[in-house]
Amino acid sequence: MPAFRMPSFRDGHCHPLFAGREALGPNISDCKTLLELQASLKLYSTEHADVEWIDASSYSQALAEGRNRFDLDNICDLPIVLHAEDHHTLWVNTEALKRAGLLEHIPTLANGIVDIDEFGNPTGILREWDAMRLVLDKIPALSLDAEVEALSMAQQKLLSLGITQVQDAWIDPGMTEIYVEFAKRGLLQIRTDLALRFDPQTWRDDLAYFKNCQQTVSDLGHARLAINAAKFFADGVLGSATALLSQAYQSDSTNFGKQVWEPAEMQAAIDSAISMGLAPHIHAIGDAAINLSLNALESFKTNLRLLKNPPVIAHCELISDFDLARFADLGVVANMQPLWARKDDAVTSCAKQIGQDRVDSMYRMRSLLDTGATISFGSDWPVSDPNPLLGAYTAVYRAAELGDGWSTQESLTIQEALEVYTFSASQQVGQTPTQIENLADTDFIVLSANPLTASRQELLDICVRETYIEGKLVWPVEAHVQISRVHAPN
Ligand SMILES: [Zn+2]
Repeated sequence: MPAFRMPSFRDGHCHPLFAGREALGPNISDCKTLLELQASLKLYSTEHADVEWIDASSYSQALAEGRNRFDLDNICDLPIVLHAEDHHTLWVNTEALKRAGLLEHIPTLANGIVDIDEFGNPTGILREWDAMRLVLDKIPALSLDAEVEALSMAQQKLLSLGITQVQDAWIDPGMTEIYVEFAKRGLLQIRTDLALRFDPQTWRDDLAYFKNCQQTVSDLGHARLAINAAKFFADGVLGSATALLSQAYQSDSTNFGKQVWEPAEMQAAIDSAISMGLAPHIHAIGDAAINLSLNALESFKTNLRLLKNPPVIAHCELISDFDLARFADLGVVANMQPLWARKDDAVTSCAKQIGQDRVDSMYRMRSLLDTGATISFGSDWPVSDPNPLLGAYTAVYRAAELGDGWSTQESLTIQEALEVYTFSASQQVGQTPTQIENLADTDFIVLSANPLTASRQELLDICVRETYIEGKLVWPVEAHVQISRVHAPN
Protein backbone atom coordinates (compact mmCIF):
# COMPACT_ATOMS: atom_id res chain seq x y z
CA MET A 1 0.00 0.00 0.00
CA PRO A 2 1.28 3.52 -0.75
CA ALA A 3 2.45 5.82 2.04
CA PHE A 4 -0.07 8.31 3.39
CA ARG A 5 0.49 11.88 4.54
CA MET A 6 -1.72 13.49 7.19
CA PRO A 7 -1.58 16.13 9.94
CA SER A 8 0.47 15.00 12.92
CA PHE A 9 -1.10 13.76 16.12
CA ARG A 10 -1.60 15.86 19.26
CA ASP A 11 -1.82 14.33 22.71
CA GLY A 12 -4.26 16.39 24.78
CA HIS A 13 -3.37 14.79 28.12
CA CYS A 14 -0.09 13.11 28.90
CA HIS A 15 2.87 13.29 31.27
CA PRO A 16 6.11 13.19 29.25
CA LEU A 17 8.38 14.02 32.17
CA PHE A 18 6.82 11.37 34.43
CA ALA A 19 7.11 8.88 31.58
CA GLY A 20 10.75 9.76 30.99
CA ARG A 21 11.55 9.45 34.69
CA GLU A 22 9.88 6.07 34.77
CA ALA A 23 11.97 4.91 31.85
CA LEU A 24 15.08 5.54 33.98
CA GLY A 25 13.92 2.93 36.54
CA PRO A 26 13.03 -0.76 36.25
CA ASN A 27 10.11 -1.71 34.02
CA ILE A 28 7.77 -4.18 35.72
CA SER A 29 4.83 -3.83 33.34
CA ASP A 30 5.36 -7.27 31.82
CA CYS A 31 5.42 -9.11 35.16
CA LYS A 32 2.42 -11.44 35.30
CA THR A 33 3.03 -13.13 38.66
CA LEU A 34 4.44 -12.17 42.04
CA LEU A 35 7.42 -14.48 41.47
CA GLU A 36 8.24 -12.77 38.18
CA LEU A 37 7.96 -9.37 39.83
CA GLN A 38 10.22 -10.34 42.73
CA ALA A 39 12.79 -11.87 40.35
CA SER A 40 12.86 -8.78 38.16
CA LEU A 41 13.32 -6.44 41.13
CA LYS A 42 16.06 -8.66 42.53
CA LEU A 43 17.87 -8.67 39.20
CA TYR A 44 17.61 -4.88 38.97
CA SER A 45 19.01 -4.42 42.48
CA THR A 46 22.03 -6.63 41.76
CA GLU A 47 22.72 -4.95 38.42
CA HIS A 48 22.38 -1.43 39.89
CA ALA A 49 24.51 -1.51 43.03
CA ASP A 50 24.58 2.31 43.16
CA VAL A 51 20.84 2.99 43.47
CA GLU A 52 19.49 4.07 46.85
CA TRP A 53 15.81 3.37 46.17
CA ILE A 54 14.03 1.10 43.73
CA ASP A 55 11.29 3.10 42.00
CA ALA A 56 9.57 0.89 39.44
CA SER A 57 6.58 1.15 37.10
CA SER A 58 4.01 -0.08 36.58
CA TYR A 59 2.16 -3.12 37.93
CA SER A 60 -1.31 -4.23 36.92
CA GLN A 61 -4.03 -3.87 39.54
CA ALA A 62 -4.78 -7.59 39.19
CA LEU A 63 -1.22 -8.52 40.20
CA ALA A 64 -1.44 -6.47 43.41
CA GLU A 65 -4.78 -7.82 44.58
CA GLY A 66 -4.45 -9.10 48.15
CA ARG A 67 -0.74 -8.24 48.25
CA ASN A 68 1.06 -6.17 50.85
CA ARG A 69 4.45 -4.81 51.84
CA PHE A 70 5.71 -8.21 53.03
CA ASP A 71 5.59 -9.52 49.45
CA LEU A 72 8.28 -6.95 48.62
CA ASP A 73 10.48 -7.55 51.67
CA ASN A 74 13.44 -9.97 51.41
CA ILE A 75 14.14 -8.98 47.80
CA CYS A 76 16.96 -6.63 48.82
CA ASP A 77 17.76 -4.16 51.59
CA LEU A 78 16.60 -1.14 49.60
CA PRO A 79 13.32 0.71 49.98
CA ILE A 80 11.06 -0.38 47.11
CA VAL A 81 8.30 1.74 45.55
CA LEU A 82 6.09 0.32 42.82
CA HIS A 83 3.63 2.45 40.84
CA ALA A 84 0.30 0.96 39.79
CA GLU A 85 -0.82 1.20 36.18
CA ASP A 86 -3.40 3.85 37.14
CA HIS A 87 -0.62 5.96 38.72
CA HIS A 88 -2.92 6.76 41.62
CA THR A 89 -1.68 3.90 43.82
CA LEU A 90 1.67 2.80 45.23
CA TRP A 91 2.73 -0.57 46.60
CA VAL A 92 5.81 -0.24 48.80
CA ASN A 93 7.90 -2.47 51.05
CA THR A 94 8.49 -2.19 54.80
CA GLU A 95 11.79 -0.35 54.35
CA ALA A 96 10.09 2.38 52.29
CA LEU A 97 7.38 2.79 54.94
CA LYS A 98 10.08 2.98 57.60
CA ARG A 99 12.01 5.72 55.74
CA ALA A 100 8.77 7.68 55.42
CA GLY A 101 8.10 7.33 59.15
CA LEU A 102 4.80 5.56 58.46
CA LEU A 103 5.53 2.64 60.77
CA GLU A 104 5.47 5.02 63.74
CA HIS A 105 2.74 7.40 62.69
CA ILE A 106 0.15 7.69 59.94
CA PRO A 107 -0.94 11.30 59.42
CA THR A 108 -4.54 12.27 58.74
CA LEU A 109 -4.87 13.10 55.06
CA ALA A 110 -7.39 15.26 53.26
CA ASN A 111 -7.05 13.42 49.96
CA GLY A 112 -5.18 10.20 50.36
CA ILE A 113 -5.46 6.80 51.99
CA VAL A 114 -2.75 4.80 53.70
CA ASP A 115 -4.26 1.30 53.82
CA ILE A 116 -4.01 -0.33 57.26
CA ASP A 117 -4.46 -3.90 58.49
CA GLU A 118 -6.65 -5.06 61.40
CA PHE A 119 -3.93 -3.98 63.86
CA GLY A 120 -3.73 -0.46 62.43
CA ASN A 121 -0.38 -1.05 60.72
CA PRO A 122 0.20 0.15 57.14
CA THR A 123 -0.17 -2.62 54.58
CA GLY A 124 2.13 -0.98 52.02
CA ILE A 125 -0.66 0.24 49.73
CA LEU A 126 -0.96 4.03 49.39
CA ARG A 127 -3.81 5.62 47.45
CA GLU A 128 -3.94 9.05 45.85
CA TRP A 129 -1.38 11.79 45.78
CA ASP A 130 -1.47 13.00 49.41
CA ALA A 131 -0.65 9.48 50.58
CA MET A 132 1.77 8.67 47.74
CA ARG A 133 3.85 11.78 48.30
CA LEU A 134 4.61 10.71 51.91
CA VAL A 135 6.92 8.10 50.40
CA LEU A 136 7.78 9.68 47.05
CA ASP A 137 9.14 12.82 48.73
CA LYS A 138 11.79 10.66 50.44
CA ILE A 139 13.29 9.45 47.16
CA PRO A 140 16.45 11.44 46.35
CA ALA A 141 15.77 13.94 43.54
CA LEU A 142 17.27 13.33 40.09
CA SER A 143 20.00 15.65 38.87
CA LEU A 144 18.97 18.30 36.33
CA ASP A 145 20.95 16.43 33.66
CA ALA A 146 19.03 13.24 34.44
CA GLU A 147 15.71 15.13 34.27
CA VAL A 148 16.64 16.60 30.90
CA GLU A 149 17.65 13.17 29.69
CA ALA A 150 14.31 11.78 30.87
CA LEU A 151 12.50 14.46 28.89
CA SER A 152 14.63 13.75 25.81
CA MET A 153 13.73 10.08 25.93
CA ALA A 154 10.05 10.92 26.29
CA GLN A 155 10.20 13.36 23.38
CA GLN A 156 11.85 10.80 21.10
CA LYS A 157 9.14 8.29 21.89
CA LEU A 158 6.36 10.80 21.15
CA LEU A 159 7.94 11.97 17.88
CA SER A 160 8.39 8.36 16.78
CA LEU A 161 4.62 7.96 17.15
CA GLY A 162 3.84 11.05 15.10
CA ILE A 163 2.96 13.30 18.05
CA THR A 164 4.13 16.91 17.65
CA GLN A 165 2.17 18.67 20.37
CA VAL A 166 1.24 17.75 23.92
CA GLN A 167 -0.58 19.01 26.95
CA ASP A 168 1.59 18.09 29.92
CA ALA A 169 -1.32 17.68 32.29
CA TRP A 170 0.45 17.79 35.65
CA ILE A 171 3.11 20.34 36.44
CA ASP A 172 4.23 20.53 40.06
CA PRO A 173 6.85 22.90 41.48
CA GLY A 174 10.25 22.16 39.97
CA MET A 175 8.94 20.78 36.69
CA THR A 176 8.58 24.02 34.70
CA GLU A 177 12.26 24.64 35.40
CA ILE A 178 13.14 21.34 33.72
CA TYR A 179 11.17 22.21 30.59
CA VAL A 180 12.82 25.64 30.53
CA GLU A 181 16.27 24.06 30.81
CA PHE A 182 15.35 21.57 28.09
CA ALA A 183 14.32 24.44 25.81
CA LYS A 184 17.41 26.51 26.68
CA ARG A 185 19.65 23.61 25.68
CA GLY A 186 17.97 23.66 22.27
CA LEU A 187 16.39 20.24 22.77
CA LEU A 188 12.68 21.05 22.82
CA GLN A 189 10.98 20.08 19.58
CA ILE A 190 7.46 19.05 20.55
CA ARG A 191 5.02 21.92 21.08
CA THR A 192 4.33 21.72 24.79
CA ASP A 193 1.72 23.35 26.93
CA LEU A 194 2.10 23.01 30.69
CA ALA A 195 -0.84 22.67 33.10
CA LEU A 196 0.12 24.01 36.54
CA ARG A 197 -1.51 21.85 39.22
CA PHE A 198 -3.71 23.70 41.69
CA ASP A 199 -3.68 21.77 44.97
CA PRO A 200 -6.67 22.28 47.31
CA GLN A 201 -4.37 22.71 50.32
CA THR A 202 -1.63 24.90 48.86
CA TRP A 203 -2.94 26.74 45.78
CA ARG A 204 -3.22 30.16 47.45
CA ASP A 205 0.42 29.95 48.58
CA ASP A 206 1.46 28.63 45.16
CA LEU A 207 0.00 31.54 43.16
CA ALA A 208 3.11 33.72 43.38
CA TYR A 209 5.27 30.80 42.27
CA PHE A 210 2.87 30.00 39.39
CA LYS A 211 3.12 33.62 38.21
CA ASN A 212 6.88 33.30 38.33
CA CYS A 213 6.72 30.19 36.16
CA GLN A 214 4.55 32.05 33.64
CA GLN A 215 7.00 34.96 33.64
CA THR A 216 10.00 32.65 33.16
CA VAL A 217 8.39 30.91 30.21
CA SER A 218 7.26 34.16 28.64
CA ASP A 219 10.76 35.69 29.10
CA LEU A 220 12.25 32.62 27.44
CA GLY A 221 10.08 33.34 24.41
CA HIS A 222 10.37 29.82 23.00
CA ALA A 223 7.73 29.35 20.31
CA ARG A 224 7.05 25.76 21.41
CA LEU A 225 6.75 26.17 25.18
CA ALA A 226 3.71 27.73 26.84
CA ILE A 227 1.73 27.70 30.08
CA ASN A 228 -1.93 28.06 29.22
CA ALA A 229 -3.65 25.57 31.51
CA ALA A 230 -4.30 24.85 35.17
CA LYS A 231 -4.78 21.29 36.35
CA PHE A 232 -7.40 20.35 38.92
CA PHE A 233 -8.27 16.94 40.29
CA ALA A 234 -12.01 16.66 40.95
CA ASP A 235 -11.73 13.03 42.09
CA GLY A 236 -9.54 9.90 42.04
CA VAL A 237 -9.86 6.73 39.98
CA LEU A 238 -12.28 3.80 39.81
CA GLY A 239 -9.56 1.18 40.43
CA SER A 240 -8.86 2.66 43.86
CA ALA A 241 -12.57 3.32 44.52
CA THR A 242 -11.76 7.03 44.75
CA ALA A 243 -13.59 8.25 41.61
CA LEU A 244 -16.58 10.32 42.80
CA LEU A 245 -19.93 8.68 42.04
CA SER A 246 -23.54 9.75 42.40
CA GLN A 247 -24.44 6.23 43.55
CA ALA A 248 -22.24 4.31 45.98
CA TYR A 249 -19.68 1.73 44.97
CA GLN A 250 -21.11 -1.75 44.69
CA SER A 251 -18.09 -3.04 46.63
CA ASP A 252 -18.85 -0.74 49.61
CA SER A 253 -22.28 0.83 49.91
CA THR A 254 -20.97 3.62 52.18
CA ASN A 255 -18.33 4.74 49.68
CA PHE A 256 -19.14 7.35 47.01
CA GLY A 257 -15.47 8.05 46.24
CA LYS A 258 -13.31 11.03 47.01
CA GLN A 259 -14.38 14.62 46.55
CA VAL A 260 -11.07 16.44 46.27
CA TRP A 261 -12.38 20.05 46.42
CA GLU A 262 -15.07 21.86 48.35
CA PRO A 263 -17.16 23.40 45.54
CA ALA A 264 -16.70 27.00 46.76
CA GLU A 265 -12.95 26.55 47.08
CA MET A 266 -12.75 25.03 43.61
CA GLN A 267 -14.68 28.02 42.23
CA ALA A 268 -12.22 30.39 43.91
CA ALA A 269 -9.23 28.48 42.53
CA ILE A 270 -10.71 28.35 39.01
CA ASP A 271 -11.40 32.07 39.24
CA SER A 272 -7.73 32.72 40.06
CA ALA A 273 -6.56 30.43 37.26
CA ILE A 274 -8.75 32.21 34.71
CA SER A 275 -7.52 35.61 35.85
CA MET A 276 -3.99 34.36 35.14
CA GLY A 277 -5.05 33.33 31.63
CA LEU A 278 -5.02 29.62 32.47
CA ALA A 279 -7.74 27.35 31.09
CA PRO A 280 -8.99 24.81 33.65
CA HIS A 281 -8.04 21.22 32.80
CA ILE A 282 -10.01 19.14 35.28
CA HIS A 283 -9.47 15.45 35.98
CA ALA A 284 -12.95 13.99 36.52
CA ILE A 285 -13.75 10.30 36.20
CA GLY A 286 -16.94 9.56 38.17
CA ASP A 287 -20.33 11.00 37.16
CA ALA A 288 -20.53 13.12 40.34
CA ALA A 289 -17.06 14.58 39.73
CA ILE A 290 -17.98 15.43 36.13
CA ASN A 291 -21.17 17.09 37.37
CA LEU A 292 -19.26 19.14 39.96
CA SER A 293 -16.71 20.17 37.34
CA LEU A 294 -19.34 21.28 34.84
CA ASN A 295 -21.12 23.24 37.59
CA ALA A 296 -17.86 24.94 38.52
CA LEU A 297 -17.15 25.88 34.90
CA GLU A 298 -20.71 27.01 34.21
CA SER A 299 -20.37 30.10 36.39
CA PHE A 300 -17.37 31.28 34.35
CA LYS A 301 -18.95 30.65 30.97
CA THR A 302 -18.23 34.09 29.49
CA ASN A 303 -14.72 34.52 30.93
CA LEU A 304 -13.72 31.08 29.70
CA ARG A 305 -14.36 32.11 26.12
CA LEU A 306 -11.67 34.82 26.43
CA LEU A 307 -8.89 32.33 27.23
CA LYS A 308 -6.41 31.07 24.65
CA ASN A 309 -7.32 27.44 25.35
CA PRO A 310 -10.81 26.05 25.94
CA PRO A 311 -11.68 24.49 29.32
CA VAL A 312 -11.18 20.74 29.47
CA ILE A 313 -12.58 17.91 31.53
CA ALA A 314 -10.16 15.02 31.24
CA HIS A 315 -11.02 11.30 31.29
CA CYS A 316 -14.84 11.64 31.49
CA GLU A 317 -15.28 7.94 32.15
CA LEU A 318 -18.84 7.96 33.51
CA ILE A 319 -21.03 10.77 32.19
CA SER A 320 -24.66 10.93 33.33
CA ASP A 321 -27.41 11.49 30.77
CA PHE A 322 -28.11 14.80 32.48
CA ASP A 323 -24.59 16.11 31.88
CA LEU A 324 -24.04 14.77 28.38
CA ALA A 325 -25.28 17.83 26.47
CA ARG A 326 -23.66 20.33 28.86
CA PHE A 327 -20.19 19.86 27.31
CA ALA A 328 -21.37 21.36 24.02
CA ASP A 329 -23.51 24.00 25.76
CA LEU A 330 -20.61 25.25 27.87
CA GLY A 331 -17.89 24.80 25.24
CA VAL A 332 -16.04 22.32 27.47
CA VAL A 333 -13.74 19.91 25.63
CA ALA A 334 -14.01 16.28 26.75
CA ASN A 335 -10.51 14.88 26.71
CA MET A 336 -10.71 11.09 26.58
CA GLN A 337 -8.26 8.22 26.49
CA PRO A 338 -9.41 6.00 23.64
CA LEU A 339 -7.19 3.11 24.66
CA TRP A 340 -9.22 2.70 27.85
CA ALA A 341 -12.39 2.00 25.87
CA ARG A 342 -11.89 -1.74 25.54
CA LYS A 343 -12.62 -4.66 27.79
CA ASP A 344 -9.20 -5.15 29.33
CA ASP A 345 -8.28 -6.04 32.94
CA ALA A 346 -8.88 -2.47 34.11
CA VAL A 347 -12.42 -2.36 32.72
CA THR A 348 -13.22 -5.90 33.87
CA SER A 349 -12.07 -5.15 37.42
CA CYS A 350 -14.25 -2.00 37.43
CA ALA A 351 -17.30 -4.27 37.24
CA LYS A 352 -16.60 -5.48 40.79
CA GLN A 353 -16.49 -1.89 41.99
CA ILE A 354 -19.44 -0.32 40.19
CA GLY A 355 -21.42 -3.15 38.58
CA GLN A 356 -21.67 -4.24 34.96
CA ASP A 357 -24.36 -1.74 33.93
CA ARG A 358 -22.33 1.29 34.88
CA VAL A 359 -19.21 -0.27 33.34
CA ASP A 360 -21.04 -0.73 30.06
CA SER A 361 -21.94 2.96 29.97
CA MET A 362 -18.33 4.18 30.19
CA TYR A 363 -16.49 6.28 27.58
CA ARG A 364 -19.49 7.77 25.73
CA MET A 365 -17.59 9.11 22.76
CA ARG A 366 -20.29 8.68 20.12
CA SER A 367 -22.97 10.15 22.39
CA LEU A 368 -20.81 13.19 23.14
CA LEU A 369 -20.01 13.83 19.48
CA ASP A 370 -23.69 13.53 18.64
CA THR A 371 -24.47 16.37 21.07
CA GLY A 372 -22.06 18.59 19.13
CA ALA A 373 -19.37 18.49 21.83
CA THR A 374 -15.67 18.58 21.03
CA ILE A 375 -13.79 15.47 22.08
CA SER A 376 -10.02 15.48 22.07
CA PHE A 377 -7.86 12.44 22.63
CA GLY A 378 -4.91 11.89 24.90
CA SER A 379 -3.04 8.87 26.17
CA ASP A 380 -2.40 9.81 29.80
CA TRP A 381 1.04 8.29 29.11
CA PRO A 382 2.71 6.74 31.13
CA VAL A 383 -0.65 5.44 32.37
CA SER A 384 -1.20 3.94 28.93
CA ASP A 385 0.52 3.45 25.60
CA PRO A 386 0.92 6.83 23.84
CA ASN A 387 0.51 5.35 20.34
CA PRO A 388 -2.30 7.40 18.68
CA LEU A 389 -2.83 4.83 15.92
CA LEU A 390 -3.58 2.22 18.55
CA GLY A 391 -5.83 4.72 20.32
CA ALA A 392 -7.69 5.54 17.10
CA TYR A 393 -8.06 1.81 16.35
CA THR A 394 -9.59 1.29 19.80
CA ALA A 395 -11.99 4.22 19.42
CA VAL A 396 -13.31 2.48 16.30
CA TYR A 397 -13.38 -1.18 17.33
CA ARG A 398 -13.44 -0.82 21.15
CA ALA A 399 -11.37 -3.99 21.37
CA ALA A 400 -7.81 -5.15 21.74
CA GLU A 401 -6.37 -6.68 18.57
CA LEU A 402 -9.11 -8.55 16.70
CA GLY A 403 -11.23 -9.36 19.76
CA ASP A 404 -14.95 -8.63 20.16
CA GLY A 405 -15.88 -4.98 20.55
CA TRP A 406 -17.29 -3.66 23.82
CA SER A 407 -20.18 -1.15 23.98
CA THR A 408 -19.75 -0.55 20.27
CA GLN A 409 -22.75 1.81 20.19
CA GLU A 410 -20.12 4.36 21.33
CA SER A 411 -17.68 3.59 18.47
CA LEU A 412 -16.33 6.35 16.25
CA THR A 413 -15.47 6.01 12.57
CA ILE A 414 -11.76 5.98 11.74
CA GLN A 415 -12.18 9.39 10.11
CA GLU A 416 -13.64 10.81 13.32
CA ALA A 417 -11.03 9.14 15.52
CA LEU A 418 -8.17 10.61 13.46
CA GLU A 419 -9.79 14.05 13.48
CA VAL A 420 -10.17 13.91 17.25
CA TYR A 421 -6.46 12.99 17.59
CA THR A 422 -5.37 15.80 15.24
CA PHE A 423 -7.73 18.77 14.70
CA SER A 424 -9.68 18.59 17.96
CA ALA A 425 -6.63 17.94 20.11
CA SER A 426 -4.84 20.89 18.51
CA GLN A 427 -7.87 23.09 19.24
CA GLN A 428 -7.69 21.92 22.85
CA VAL A 429 -4.12 23.17 23.13
CA GLY A 430 -4.96 26.47 21.49
CA GLN A 431 -3.56 25.90 18.03
CA THR A 432 -5.33 26.54 14.75
CA PRO A 433 -6.00 23.20 13.14
CA THR A 434 -4.13 22.50 9.93
CA GLN A 435 -5.95 21.59 6.77
CA ILE A 436 -4.68 18.52 5.06
CA GLU A 437 -4.07 20.28 1.72
CA ASN A 438 -1.55 22.81 3.05
CA LEU A 439 0.67 20.56 5.08
CA ALA A 440 4.00 21.48 3.51
CA ASP A 441 5.24 24.01 6.09
CA THR A 442 3.44 22.58 9.01
CA ASP A 443 3.32 19.56 11.31
CA PHE A 444 2.56 16.34 9.52
CA ILE A 445 3.37 12.67 9.44
CA VAL A 446 3.87 10.00 6.83
CA LEU A 447 2.16 6.71 7.59
CA SER A 448 2.96 3.34 6.02
CA ALA A 449 -0.58 3.20 4.58
CA ASN A 450 -3.89 5.05 4.44
CA PRO A 451 -5.88 4.32 7.61
CA LEU A 452 -9.10 5.61 6.04
CA THR A 453 -9.23 2.77 3.54
CA ALA A 454 -7.48 0.08 5.62
CA SER A 455 -9.11 -3.16 6.69
CA ARG A 456 -9.22 -3.91 10.41
CA GLN A 457 -6.06 -6.02 10.26
CA GLU A 458 -4.30 -3.47 8.06
CA LEU A 459 -5.17 -0.70 10.49
CA LEU A 460 -3.41 -2.62 13.27
CA ASP A 461 -0.30 -2.89 11.11
CA ILE A 462 0.00 0.78 10.07
CA CYS A 463 2.94 2.65 11.54
CA VAL A 464 4.45 6.13 11.44
CA ARG A 465 7.39 6.38 9.03
CA GLU A 466 8.25 10.05 9.35
CA THR A 467 7.32 13.00 11.56
CA TYR A 468 7.69 16.64 10.48
CA ILE A 469 7.42 19.88 12.47
CA GLU A 470 7.13 23.09 10.46
CA GLY A 471 7.98 21.05 7.40
CA LYS A 472 11.26 19.76 8.88
CA LEU A 473 11.91 16.08 9.46
CA VAL A 474 12.21 15.47 13.23
CA TRP A 475 11.88 11.71 13.26
CA PRO A 476 13.61 9.49 12.42
CA VAL A 477 16.88 11.32 13.00
CA GLU A 478 20.00 10.43 14.93
CA ALA A 479 18.39 11.97 18.00
CA HIS A 480 20.10 9.68 20.51
CA VAL A 481 23.45 11.00 19.26
CA GLN A 482 22.25 14.54 19.90
CA ILE A 483 21.25 13.69 23.45
CA SER A 484 24.51 12.00 24.43
CA ARG A 485 26.48 14.89 22.97
CA VAL A 486 24.76 17.28 25.33
CA HIS A 487 24.95 14.97 28.31
CA ALA A 488 28.25 13.15 28.28
CA PRO A 489 27.80 10.34 30.82
CA ASN A 490 29.84 10.93 33.93
ZN1 LIG B 1 -3.15 12.23 33.72
